[in-house]
Amino acid sequence: MIVRQSFISNIWGHQAYKEFRNWAKIIVPIGAGILIMLYLLSFFFHADIIKDLLYITNGTSLLFIGYIIALIVLLDIEVSVEETEKNYWDKEKQAPKPFKYKLTIIWAVLLFVLGIVAIYYSNRYRNRYAFECETYLVDEDAGIYHLDWDNDCKAADEAESLEVKKGYQIDKSFKFCEECKEWMEDAEDEAALVHARP
Ligand SMILES: [Zn+2]
Repeated sequence: MIVRQSFISNIWGHQAYKEFRNWAKIIVPIGAGILIMLYLLSFFFHADIIKDLLYITNGTSLLFIGYIIALIVLLDIEVSVEETEKNYWDKEKQAPKPFKYKLTIIWAVLLFVLGIVAIYYSNRYRNRYAFECETYLVDEDAGIYHLDWDNDCKAADEAESLEVKKGYQIDKSFKFCEECKEWMEDAEDEAALVHARP
């Protein structure tokens, strides 16, 4: 008996794999269209709505991870493997898989690694864009920018003149104020604690 299979479809279960693959054929092109549109918009404009949409559709968001899984399953390749009826049920006595099946393992690992890379870079992209949309208080003379929040930063108080600018308008050589950075990290820790509470 010849069974179409790959490393991934064997792990997933052939029926569920097939059904998910049919879904992936619809999800992947629609998702690609949405992502390309968002990337194009984010290239030309800086708007909070684009920032929010990028945030929920990119990086470590569940939507993006689901999208990458759909893409991996769609790009996965099944090969025909001859299996006798007995071996199919009795896994312990199964004959060794042919070389072309082993290639599907390498392919699956490669797709998985590429998926992680895609998640990493899309996460960086959405964070970068969020920074570009945020407003900061820029100390042009010192080459430092501060948070545009009421965080009692002494360095910001002592600065002679501060200009309100969005992230993408700030000179790339400027540094983020250390005191503001610490304050922000503390605020994030606090936020994490609040969320951690039942
Ligand atoms: Zn500061």
